Amino acid sequence: MEERIERAAQRCGRKREDITLVAVSKKFPAERLAIAYRVGLREFGENYVQEFAEKRPALASLTEARYHLIGHLQSNKARIACELFQTIQTVDSAKLMNRLNLAAGERGATIEAMIEVKLSGEESKSGADPAEIAALLDAAASCPHVSVTGLMTMPPWSEDPEHSRGYFRQLAALARQHNLPKLSMGMSGDLETAIEEGATIVRVGTALFGKRPKPPSA
Ligand SMILES: *Cc1c(COP(=O)(O)O)cnc(C)c1O
Repeated sequence: MEERIERAAQRCGRKREDITLVAVSKKFPAERLAIAYRVGLREFGENYVQEFAEKRPALASLTEARYHLIGHLQSNKARIACELFQTIQTVDSAKLMNRLNLAAGERGATIEAMIEVKLSGEESKSGADPAEIAALLDAAASCPHVSVTGLMTMPPWSEDPEHSRGYFRQLAALARQHNLPKLSMGMSGDLETAIEEGATIVRVGTALFGKRPKPPSA
C-alpha cells in the first residue's frame, strides 16, 4: 500500500506526507486493527457507530490511533460518535452539525468534521448536494466545537477507476471554491486516480485487510 501511494504521489509531483492513509477496518475484529497499528498505521475508518463501540474497549492500548467515522451518522447518535471518533467524515445536514457541536461542547472538546457530498445523484446514497455546502458552512460558523476541514465523497462503484475521475475532480473544485483544505476520496480500487486529482485522505479497506468477512447470517 505504501508503494502504491508513494508511486501515485510521485507521478503527479505530490509529497507522500500530504496524503493520509485511513485504514478502513469495518467488519474486522479489534485484533486486526491492533496488528495494523503494530505495523505503523495510525488512522482508522469505521462505518458503523455500534460496531465500533463494541470494538473500542479492546483498542485502549493503541494510544496514538485516530478514528474516522466514514459511514452515515444519524443525529441521535452524535453524542456517542463524539466519544468514539476524532473525525466525522460524513456530516451532511445542519441538524447533525448542531448535534455534534452540542456533544463536543459537553465534552469540552472540538470535533473535526468533513462534509460528505453526493455527486452521483444515486437515491440510495447519503451526502449533501453540492449546492448545500455553503449553507452547511454557514451552520458550522456558529458551531465553535466543530471544525470543518474538508469534503468527502464516494463515487458509484465501478471496476474502472477512470469512472471515478470526474467525481474526484468535481469534489476538488468544490473544496477549492469553499476554501477547504482536505479531500477524502479514493478507495482500494481508485486511490491512484484520487491522488492524481488531489486527495489528501484515501480510505482503504480491502487492499489492506483483504476481503471483508461476511457477517454471520441472523
Ligand atoms: C468500505 C469503505 C471504504 C473502503 O473500501 P475498499 O474498497 O474496501 O477499500 C472506503 N470508504 C467508505 C465510505 C467505505 O464505506
